Amino acid sequence: MADLRLIKGDITQFRGDAIVNAANTGLVGGGGVDGAIHRAAGPQLDVACRKLHGCPTGEAKVTPGFDLPVRFIIHTPGPIWRDGSFEEPKLLRSCYENSLKRAVENGCQTVAFPSISTGIYGYPLADACQIAVSTIRQFNAPLQVTMVAFDEATYRAFEKAME
Ligand code: ADP
Repeated sequence: MADLRLIKGDITQFRGDAIVNAANTGLVGGGGVDGAIHRAAGPQLDVACRKLHGCPTGEAKVTPGFDLPVRFIIHTPGPIWRDGSFEEPKLLRSCYENSLKRAVENGCQTVAFPSISTGIYGYPLADACQIAVSTIRQFNAPLQVTMVAFDEATYRAFEKAME
């Protein structure tokens, strides 16, 4: 069983084995948490990402952490919310599951997630939190998972989903 805890803060400050990036399918670096991670990891991250030739929504690919205090960055493009009938819930669940698989494959014990898809991609926050919490808790591996909420609304929504 993966163990789940919640903190408020900036994921680029996380010290552990891996952080997850809410990426885009081109893996080209964008705004939000993706931009923050690219700035903090340094320009080598962009070079490494370009060699991966993109990543489909719901899947996950790994790079080193470069200047960040983690060994790995796990890049997963979340679904862009349309109206919920375009497999958004299934794709969001896949993001968490595949990221956790990459963490295990790379021998990680501690991994941090941002709230995937609930920023620019517009996924309704309460629903996304339920999916994140249930997927992480159901994942059968000895992982210490930290959800990093960047703002108060996200923190409160995760707190509720974890009750
Ligand atoms: P998406 O495109 O998947 O919606 P965003 O980066 O727009 O991704 O937002 C996802 C979540 O990450 C939002 O809750 C946003 O507030 C949060 N976020 C932005 N910067 C950081 C950061 N430095 N650390 C952790 N979370 C962050």
